[in-house]
Amino acid sequence: MNTMGRCERCGKQSQMLTGSWFNTQLICAGSEDSCIERERSRLDFKRAREAEEAACAQGNYNYPGIEADYRRWVNE
Ligand SMILES: [Zn+2]
Repeated sequence: MNTMGRCERCGKQSQMLTGSWFNTQLICAGSEDSCIERERSRLDFKRAREAEEAACAQGNYNYPGIEADYRRWVNE
């Protein structure tokens, strides 16, 4: 969690950044149309979260996420 900076996904300045569930980007949070809300509304959000939690449970804190190749987000 960061306090102020640029979202690594959409490039907007944001008051709040948080780690993506799908990859290692720091993305914007705190508003209806923020990137984290868009992740939460995805059908595979549950799968991404469970994969992340399973990796952490095994001690793998560097888990890159189910979409480590985040370039597909950029052209969404
Ligand atoms: Zn964003």
